[in-house]
Amino acid sequence: MIQEIQHFVNGQNKPSHSGQQPVDNPATGDVIAQVHLADADFVDEAIKIAKQAQKEWRNTGLGKRSQVFFRLAHILRSENDSLAEIISEENGKTIPDAHGEIARGLENVEFCAGLGHHLKGEAAQQVATGIDVEQLKQPLGVVACITPFNFPAMVPLWMTTAAIAAGNSVIVKPSEQVPASVMWLADAFQRAGLPNGVFNVINGKKDTVEALINHPDIKAVSFVGSTPVAKSIYSQASAKGKRVQALGGAKNHMVVMPDADLDAAADAAVSAGFGAAGQRCMAVSVIVAVGEIAETVTAKIAERAKKLRVGPGNKDGVDLGPVINNEAKSRILNYIDSAEKQGGTIVLDGRKCSLPEQGYFVGPTLVDNVTPGMDVYDNEIFGPVLSVVRVENFDEAVALINSSSYANGVAIFTRDGKTAREFRMEIEVGMVGINVPIPVPVGTFSFGGWKDSLFGDTHIYGAEAFHFYTRRKVVSTRWPDPDESQISLGFPTH
Ligand code: NAD
Repeated sequence: MIQEIQHFVNGQNKPSHSGQQPVDNPATGDVIAQVHLADADFVDEAIKIAKQAQKEWRNTGLGKRSQVFFRLAHILRSENDSLAEIISEENGKTIPDAHGEIARGLENVEFCAGLGHHLKGEAAQQVATGIDVEQLKQPLGVVACITPFNFPAMVPLWMTTAAIAAGNSVIVKPSEQVPASVMWLADAFQRAGLPNGVFNVINGKKDTVEALINHPDIKAVSFVGSTPVAKSIYSQASAKGKRVQALGGAKNHMVVMPDADLDAAADAAVSAGFGAAGQRCMAVSVIVAVGEIAETVTAKIAERAKKLRVGPGNKDGVDLGPVINNEAKSRILNYIDSAEKQGGTIVLDGRKCSLPEQGYFVGPTLVDNVTPGMDVYDNEIFGPVLSVVRVENFDEAVALINSSSYANGVAIFTRDGKTAREFRMEIEVGMVGINVPIPVPVGTFSFGGWKDSLFGDTHIYGAEAFHFYTRRKVVSTRWPDPDESQISLGFPTH
C-alpha cells in the first residue's frame, strides 16, 4: 500500500495542498509513499507555531528537558528495529548499516541528556568593587535543520538534539527522498514528552527550503548536503544575518604507506569505500598508494571487493545495497565510463557484475592509475567507486590531498609514529584517522570538514553545537549601598 506522508506540526500530522511527490524504494524502484510538499504559506504557519511553542520550552526546567532525552534514548534503543527497517526501505542501506546509523545518532541524544552541564555559563565575582559578572547561554528561537538523503535519521539527530536541548524549537526539512525516518523521530520525540510544536517536520524541496531559510523568524540554519547547495544556503541565509553552518560534500583520501599492514589497510579500504554503497560523506573515495606497495594493495582490495554481495538492504547477507535513485546510478556509471576513457585501469568493474534487475544497483568498482584531472578524481562520485592514485612518497601524498578543494575526512595507514604525527600536523582536512578509515568523531566531540566541505565556522553536534544554538549574554551586577551617592560621569573602571 502506498503510504501518504504529510508534515508534522504542533504534535500532529498535517496535510498541505501544494503538491506531492513519490518516494521510491531504491532496491525495487517501486513507489512506497507520496510525500506532501509545503509552500511558503505552510512554512510560515509552521514557523508561527514553532515560535509560540519555543516561548514555553525555553522556560522549561533543565531537569525536565533532560528527561525527554533519557526517554528518547530508551525509545531509540528499544525500538531501533522498526526505525532500521524504515531507513533501509527508503534509503536502500543494509539493516546492519541502518542500526549503525541509529547508534551514532543515539550518541547525540545521550550527550544532550547532560544538557544541564552543557548549558552552564561562566561567572566571576568582584570584577570591580562590588560588581559580579555572569555569562548566560540563551536559546536563539526557531532553528531550521535541512538534511540529506544518506543518513535519514542520524543527521536530523546531529542537529535537532542540541538545538532542542538548548531551548530552541526546530523545523526539520528532510530530503524528499527519505521523509519517513524523520516522521518516525517526530513521533518518538513526542512520546518522549517533548511539548507540541518544539519538533516540527516540513516536507518539500528547493522552494520549501528557500521559504524556510529566508523567513525572518528563523534564527539559525543547520544544513548538511552537497557542496553547491551548502554554498548557496550559506550565502542566502548569512546575507539575512542568520547564523549558518552548512556542511557540504567530500572526496576522502586514504594514504597507505609502504610500512602499513596491507591486509588491515585493504580491509579498511573495502569497508570504508563500499559501505552504504559509497554514499557516506566520510566514505573513502581515493586510495593514495605510496611507493612500491601500489600493486599489492590494489590486488588485495580487489580480491576482497569481488566477494561483496550486492542486493536489497533488507536481505540477510547483503553487503551493499542500491544507490538512491536512477539519476545517481547513471551519474556513477558515467564516471566509470569516463575513468576508462581518460586512462584509468578498471580493476573491478561494477558495470559488469551480476546485479538484481529491479532497483538502482551498481557493483563495487576499483580503478587504478587514477590521476588528478580525471573526472573520477576531481568530483565527488557518491557511489561504490574506489580510485587508486599512485605516488612516490609521503610528501607527494600530503601535497595531493592538500590541493583538493574538499577537506572532510582523511586517513593514513602506517606503523610509524613519526609519519603519523607529521601527517596529522600537515594535513589540511577537518577529520583525520590514523589507522582508522572513517574517523567520524564520537558524540562528545564535534563533526566538521574544512574548505568546501563546511561553510560557516562551527562544527556540528557535541560542545560546538551548544555554542551554535545559543547566544551568550553577559550580565554585570551590583547591589549598591542605598546611602552611597551613585552619580559618576566617568567611564566605569575598576
Ligand atoms: P542535496 O544537497 O541534494 O540535498 C540536501 C538537502 O537540500 C535536501 O533536503 C534537499 O531537499 C535540499 N536541496 C536540494 N537542492 C536544493 C536547492 N537547490 N536549494 C535548496 N535546497 C536544496 O544532498 P543529498 O543528495 O541529499 O545528499 C548527498 C550529499 O550530502 C553529498 O554531497 C554528501 O557528501 C553530502 N553529505 C555531507 C555530509 C557532511 O557531514 N559533510 C554528511 C552527509 C551527506
